[in-house]
Amino acid sequence: MRIGSGVDVHAFGPGDHVMLGGVRVPHSHGVVAHSDGDVVLHALTDALLGAAGLGDIGQHFRDTDPRWKGADSQHFVRATLDMLRARRLRVGNADVTVLAETPKLAPVREAICRRLEALLEVAPGAVNVKATTTEKLGFLGRGEGIAAQAVVLLLADAD
Ligand code: MG
Repeated sequence: MRIGSGVDVHAFGPGDHVMLGGVRVPHSHGVVAHSDGDVVLHALTDALLGAAGLGDIGQHFRDTDPRWKGADSQHFVRATLDMLRARRLRVGNADVTVLAETPKLAPVREAICRRLEALLEVAPGAVNVKATTTEKLGFLGRGEGIAAQAVVLLLADAD
């Protein structure tokens, strides 16, 4: 078994939605990002890479690479899972926390869980998604952006 964690932050900018876990969530702002700026998938990708000892998302998917301009961040997770499979590693479970004042996660939480379960090819219940505010404190509390944290457990074939 191997454990990994990941964190990602994006500033809000012009737009009418944010992507969270591959789900389009209507919002008063978009995010400033090279890719689609999905903080959940970026944190998850970093957690997967970290658990496997494979560095971080920036090393594998540079944010200056024109290939990733506006990219669907599900690609980063899928490509990372390919690397894990080559090392005979698979996802046991994942726990994700979204930190933001808005958008509220309750209406989309289940949809994000189902999307992540499908993406990670795990059984129902193996992905948990939580949300918290920062009690109006700091840049998240002022509504300047959105953050996510992810923790994953990887299982080896031998586990
Ligand atoms: Mg990011």
